[in-house]
Amino acid sequence: MHTIYLVVPCYNEEEVLPDSNEKLLQKLRTLIHSETISPDSRVVYVDDGSKDKTWSLISDYHRADPLVQGIKLSRNKGHQNALLAGLMTVRDHCDAAISLDADLQDDINAIDGMVEKFASGCDIVCGVRNDRETDTGFKRGTAGGFYKLMTTLGVEMIPNHADFRLMSRRALEALSEFREVNLFLRGMVPMIGYKTDVVYYARKERTAGESKYPLKKMIAFALEGITSLSVKPIRMITFLGIGIFAVSICMLIYFLIRHFTGHTILGWTSLAVSVWAIGGLQILAIGIIGEYIGKIYLETKARPKYFVETYLDS
Ligand code: UDP
Ligand code: MG
Repeated sequence: MHTIYLVVPCYNEEEVLPDSNEKLLQKLRTLIHSETISPDSRVVYVDDGSKDKTWSLISDYHRADPLVQGIKLSRNKGHQNALLAGLMTVRDHCDAAISLDADLQDDINAIDGMVEKFASGCDIVCGVRNDRETDTGFKRGTAGGFYKLMTTLGVEMIPNHADFRLMSRRALEALSEFREVNLFLRGMVPMIGYKTDVVYYARKERTAGESKYPLKKMIAFALEGITSLSVKPIRMITFLGIGIFAVSICMLIYFLIRHFTGHTILGWTSLAVSVWAIGGLQILAIGIIGEYIGKIYLETKARPKYFVETYLDS
């Protein structure tokens, strides 16, 4: 039997926490009683510097039931950091950890499927929403566009998967080797590469409290995802520079023809050609500098270069 830890980041969640705690404990107890998971399994709440009663609630739950553990961050560090803090704290105590939001918008019944797939040898099991009916048309559209954009930019991501996922201990160890501080976990996890599967579920509406991801934060998060995972925008500048420089050569030919056929006023040809040529060269130069900055960016991330999956030694 495997020890499974449920890691739940919480920021100002006093309104949903009582209900969520009840449901999570019930889920955990059911799984323990049916001997699906070990009695050492736990629910771990990570208080991300909440300003309301969240931490005192977590402390109460911990006192009332040894199945509940709590981690308190010194201040608000954001969802991704809180999540990573939780996963890194528990990774030595469990066989696998499942991350989920405090509002339980992600169906906790999908946990059964995750545990099953983990038992059959998967290291990473991602929860994927198979409908977006509870979302507004706007959120659906923007989310769809975002996943497409990320694919175009060369970032491997599972569409409609957020941060509801199971990770085995060795997947967590692999994650711990990523040194970057700009976190976009759902883009980093596919880089680990261990055997991955998905379980589908329908996402529910938040039952109480407010979303901590208003539009402004959503856009910031999307930008974080792009800039911390892709250097393609820099490459686009290089191509733009090459493009404009190529245009300037065409222009040069055109302007010279105009010049020699006498359709121009004095000084116009040299001016027009210089504007195009210098513009193109400048953008190209920025692109080239950008290419090096892109390299520095990847070097400073000091990402792990490989993970050994199997070693058949003798
Ligand atoms: N959260 C957090 N720190 C923050 C913001 C959010 O730990 O600074 C947690 C929050 O308590 C919840 C999860 O991240 O458990 C997802 O937030 P929310 O449900 O508000 O996002 P949405 O579902 O609206 O995208
Ligand atoms: Mg939510």
